[in-house]
Amino acid sequence: MLAKVAPDTLNAVAADSDILTRMPVSDRIRYRLIEAGQRYHANDNIAAHIREGELGELREEVQARLREVLHALVIDTENDHNTADTARRVAKMFVSEVFRGRYEPAPDATAFPNVSQLNELMIVGPITVRSACSHHLCPILGKLWVGVLPNAGSDLIGLSKYARLAEWVMSRPQIQEEAVVMLADELEQRIRPDGLALVMQASHFCMHWRGVKDDGALMRNSVMRGAFLKDATLRREFLSLLERDSR
Ligand SMILES: [Zn+2]
Repeated sequence: MLAKVAPDTLNAVAADSDILTRMPVSDRIRYRLIEAGQRYHANDNIAAHIREGELGELREEVQARLREVLHALVIDTENDHNTADTARRVAKMFVSEVFRGRYEPAPDATAFPNVSQLNELMIVGPITVRSACSHHLCPILGKLWVGVLPNAGSDLIGLSKYARLAEWVMSRPQIQEEAVVMLADELEQRIRPDGLALVMQASHFCMHWRGVKDDGALMRNSVMRGAFLKDATLRREFLSLLERDSR
C-alpha cells in the first residue's frame, strides 16, 4: 500500500537532501509519511509529520492546484470577480478550517483521576458534529451522544473536551461509520471506562444536493463497548435518554 514511491526513488531522495527542500511541500510531507510507514487516508491525522511553517506553504500549494481545477472547469477567474479569489478561500477553508483535524495535533484533553469514584452512567450530548464525506467532500451535519460508565480507576475529562475531541476527529473528510469508531478509540484511550457508547445521527449533503436528492435521509451509527455490550439494561437506559433529543 505504501509502495507507491519506489524504494530507489526514496534512497535517491535521501541521498540528496536538496531535492527534498525543492519538492512541493505536499511531497515532502508524503515522503516523511512513507518513510515512517504511516497511513495517510483522508480521515487520518498527519500532524506529527508536518514541520513548523509548512502549513502555510501547504495552503499555498492547495490554492495553486485549486486554481487549476477552476481552470479545468472552464471558469474565467481572471474576469469573473466572484471567482477571482475562490482558490485562496477554498484552500484556507480546507487546510485551516473544515479539514484542520488532519493537520493539527489533538486538542489538549487532560484527564484527571476519578476522585469521587463515580460509577454511574454519564451522558454527554447532543454535541453538534460537522464534517464532509470522503466520497464527494459534501458536508455532513449532525449530532453525537456519548455515554460513559466510569469505574473508580478511570480518568475523567472535562465536558467541553468531548466536543473538542469530536471536532478534531470530524474536521477531516470522513466516513460516518469510521468516524464513530475513531472517536470511540480516542475516548477509550483517555478515560479507560468500564463501558463506552457513542451514537451519531447525521444528515449527508451528498444525498440532498446530488444523487438521490432525498431530503429526509439521516444516517445513524453507534458503537457500544464494554458494559454497554454486555448489559442490555444499561444500553436501554442510554438509548432512552438520548431518544428524546434526537427527534
Ligand atoms: Zn458523499
